[in-house]
Amino acid sequence: MSDESIIYLDNNATTQVDPAVVDEMLPWLRDYYGNPSSAYRHGKRALQAVEVARERVAALLGCETGEIIFTSCGSESINTAIQSAIAFDPDRTHIITSGVEHSATMKLCEHLARKGFEVTWLPVDSSGRLDLEKLEKAIRPDTAIVSLLWANNETGVLFPVERVAEICRAKKVLFHCDAVQAVGKIPLNLADAGIHFLSVSGHKLHCPKGVGVLYVNKRVRFTPWLRGSQENSRRGGTQNVASIVALGKAAEIAAQHMAEEQTRVRALRDRFENEILARVSGVAVNGDREHRLPNTTNLTFEGIEAEGALILLDERGICCSAGSACTSGSVHPSHVLKAMGFSNERARASLRFSFGRFNTEADVDAALETVPAIVEKLRALSPASGPVLVG
Ligand SMILES: *Cc1c(COP(=O)(O)O)cnc(C)c1O
Repeated sequence: MSDESIIYLDNNATTQVDPAVVDEMLPWLRDYYGNPSSAYRHGKRALQAVEVARERVAALLGCETGEIIFTSCGSESINTAIQSAIAFDPDRTHIITSGVEHSATMKLCEHLARKGFEVTWLPVDSSGRLDLEKLEKAIRPDTAIVSLLWANNETGVLFPVERVAEICRAKKVLFHCDAVQAVGKIPLNLADAGIHFLSVSGHKLHCPKGVGVLYVNKRVRFTPWLRGSQENSRRGGTQNVASIVALGKAAEIAAQHMAEEQTRVRALRDRFENEILARVSGVAVNGDREHRLPNTTNLTFEGIEAEGALILLDERGICCSAGSACTSGSVHPSHVLKAMGFSNERARASLRFSFGRFNTEADVDAALETVPAIVEKLRALSPASGPVLVG
């Protein structure tokens, strides 16, 4: 059933659903369709399945089951966390985030800024790293929440989330972490992390699209966004039982295989990156190579247009991306690379390759055969030698 001709190197955009996850969820679509809120056994069975999933997700995150709220996606979790924090105290009208966040965070903060909230957009350096001193200085008595990524979806760069949590705790400010790209890729233990809210998305974790998790620390007062009786009155809407079961299974698999997978996927990414650097001139790695997800590489190929490269790569069955998925297809250069101080030209010459569980050495071989040839072709088409972008 899977598309054999596809070499999928865009695992930060979404992931292939693990076949074991499909197997686990199918009975909950086909046979056990009861409403988890119903009193008879057909409903109770669904409720039990949701609770097993909750235990599995809690085990992956290192938290308590009572701290897990199932949502429809990462974006809903992010919106809920920030909205909850600003509902908590009407005198706190200041929000801190960064200039490299996912669009869910950016769009909500831009909206809140138009509504009268003050938003501080923390800068990053040319490696995509955060300046913790600037964070500390930005926190004010009226700061409602600090919302920051754990791992950047475009570059893979990791923010020092433990340190951010310490700073927020010392200043008595709520902290939401967008951990959508981190969960399942790097170990986390929320029990002693001091994080108040944390967002997770199923489809970045080999689970279907349309299901997510919001972790809410048990000591934090929570205001629901979508009101209703489900999820302990914290998130209205009849639970998406099959997808929640799927997310539970995906979390279990991620927890079981994280160590071995991290090593294997990192080796694939590193071989690809190192070979590209060795074989192609005028290439630079974007983002801190040390503090980075093991699966992501973001590369600038001097003298190319990423949009053109994507078309040629697609013709050869290779899926990767330019900028964020939400803005691909448009000519906007990545806001993440722009925030790192890169020119529009350099940002537009950048491609992201993100590896995952189902990639093989053969995928890397194919990409290593195709990518240098395409870069050469594009450079030959636009021989006008522009300024040197990367050294
Ligand atoms: C994909 C992604 C999201 C949004 O998750 P959805 O489930 O697609 O809404 C949020 N943050 C990051 C870092 C992401 O990569």
